[in-house]
Amino acid sequence: MAKRGGPSVIDGLASVRAAQHAGRGAQGPRLRPSRTRLPAADKPPEAPRKPRGSGPASRIGHTAIPPRNEIVCYVCGYAFVLQGKIEKTYCPKCRHMLEMKHFVLEDEVGGVIRTIGTIEITERAKIGADAELVGGRIVVAGDARPARLRAGLSVEIRPGGRLEMERTTAPDLIVAPGGRFASASPVSCRNLTVSGEARARFSVEGLALVRPGGALCGEIRGARLVVEEGGGLKARVSVAKSEGANKR
Ligand SMILES: [Zn+2]
Repeated sequence: MAKRGGPSVIDGLASVRAAQHAGRGAQGPRLRPSRTRLPAADKPPEAPRKPRGSGPASRIGHTAIPPRNEIVCYVCGYAFVLQGKIEKTYCPKCRHMLEMKHFVLEDEVGGVIRTIGTIEITERAKIGADAELVGGRIVVAGDARPARLRAGLSVEIRPGGRLEMERTTAPDLIVAPGGRFASASPVSCRNLTVSGEARARFSVEGLALVRPGGALCGEIRGARLVVEEGGGLKARVSVAKSEGANKR
């Protein structure tokens, strides 16, 4: 036992001494001590910490995790992600200063509002015909029909929310529980999530998702359609890999 331990220690010391004497040739022998498994042995105790974060304390832990902000520049359309709390930031592409404010509209609204944050149109909001609302996410719980809406990420229709699709631009369309959306003209979007009632001829580039309690009526064309249990679908359906994407 002692003999086995002895020579290995001596070997280690010998190699370090050899390295010191060797001068330029030291690099090779110096690598040997890095074989020690101690750092690796330290790692396993860290692993159990992760599951703890996803436990009951995860809500508290949430404040420690910096928020992840999906941002779409309202000047040039460039999309990027920033961690942490932001009030304003430069667009990395066009260098415009972008404001991250959250607006809750519950009064008379006119003119232009621009933010990379959220604009919420409440049922009390009185939207003027000159209103142009540009936001990252736009939440519609009131009558937004007179306004021009432009969302970098999504427009969400909540109960009582009304909008004019021809005056609305948004990649993702969300019909929240209790929300009702109908359009006589065809609607194209990137992703569609229906937890309320949606009635139109939809063309969806990404995922069309009908959540429990949601109802999708009319027509749906797209690459992916998911109807969760409890979700309703009464529509002409055409689901196929997008032809345009394959040709290029
Ligand atoms: Zn930009």
